[in-house]
Amino acid sequence: MSLSRKAVLGVADIPQVRKMFETNSKAREMVGRFVAGDTAEEAIAVALGFKQQGINVTLDLLGENVNSEEAASMAVVSYADVLRQAAAAEIEPNVSVKLTMLGMDLSDELTRANLNRILDVAREVNGFVRVDMEGSDYTDRTLAIFRDAHDEYGDHVGIVLQTMLYRTGEDVLEMIERQARVRLVKGAYSEPETLAMGSKENDAAYRQLMRMLLKKGKYPAIATHDPTLIDEAIDYARKNQITPDRFEFQMLYGVRQNEQERLRSKGYNMRVYTPFGKDWYPYYSRRIAERPANAFFVARQFLDRSK
Ligand SMILES: Cc1cc2nc3c(=O)[nH]c(=O)nc-3n(C[C@H](O)[C@H](O)[C@H](O)COP(=O)(O)OP(=O)(O)OC[C@H]3O[C@@H](n4cnc5c(N)ncnc54)[C@H](O)[C@@H]3O)c2cc1C
Repeated sequence: MSLSRKAVLGVADIPQVRKMFETNSKAREMVGRFVAGDTAEEAIAVALGFKQQGINVTLDLLGENVNSEEAASMAVVSYADVLRQAAAAEIEPNVSVKLTMLGMDLSDELTRANLNRILDVAREVNGFVRVDMEGSDYTDRTLAIFRDAHDEYGDHVGIVLQTMLYRTGEDVLEMIERQARVRLVKGAYSEPETLAMGSKENDAAYRQLMRMLLKKGKYPAIATHDPTLIDEAIDYARKNQITPDRFEFQMLYGVRQNEQERLRSKGYNMRVYTPFGKDWYPYYSRRIAERPANAFFVARQFLDRSK
């Protein structure tokens, strides 16, 4: 991870900065670039727009690191509701869930039970739940909970693996072995150098793991905006007779929208990670940290406002 990215994530963690953002009226406007709305209804309206272009979504209720059973339970109810609303609106019922929102800071048993409650609904509506991957403090426990869920719910549940972590080669092999659906990402969290590689090395790791998943994985999701890696995925698939129905590309809402449409028009499956909800701050700060230009843009907006 680059120094500038670490710095932005560090600044975003300062409570005063967070407060300034959350109480600033202009901030909400800026957040709209990356967040589809406050409510499930707004997110589903956005999803219907994507559907007209042949693009799928995965809906993400914003929020993480809840510290009460009640808050975790509310998240379960909201996710169950989103899955049902999506099915009723004839959108593929596909959601992305962070286990810290289901109680992982409280107990693994609670988290498991909460995830299963969401998965029961996913099974009922023939939907899919992707378990997002969070910081490395959670990796082992997330994978353990995922394995149990996959044993029980099979193709209704998938996982995310982050190529920046040195361990991920092993995790990819395991997921290929159990034919679990993987979303491959570079990794968005600030990690110690002992566990995670720098960006050049990470690109090489992504390339290698992407090829393994394309060749032997179960409907992998190539989740990146990196034009070189996207071209390489297309090229590799073509040369190895891997047809476009065997994988999908994924990108984030608000990032490289033209590219999302272009890939779809070329016959590739495209899914847009579409977050909604009021608890947008941690998600938004990770998006800002990903690109220096975004951080400059945000800083400029604040400076203009204070003139
Ligand atoms: C669908 C999806 C789900 C994800 N889920 C997870 C997860 O569960 N856990 C996790 O750790 N990470 C997740 N991520 C984030 C991921 O780890 C990366 O942080 C993020 O995708 C940026 O990396 P990149 O592969 O796009 O490559 P980069 O090298 O960061 O970016 C390549 C190019 O894409 C464009 N770009 C990238 N990000 C932005 C941005 N925010 N704003 C504007 N332009 C941008 C720029 O043009 C940049 O040059 C997810 C990403 C996607 C697309």
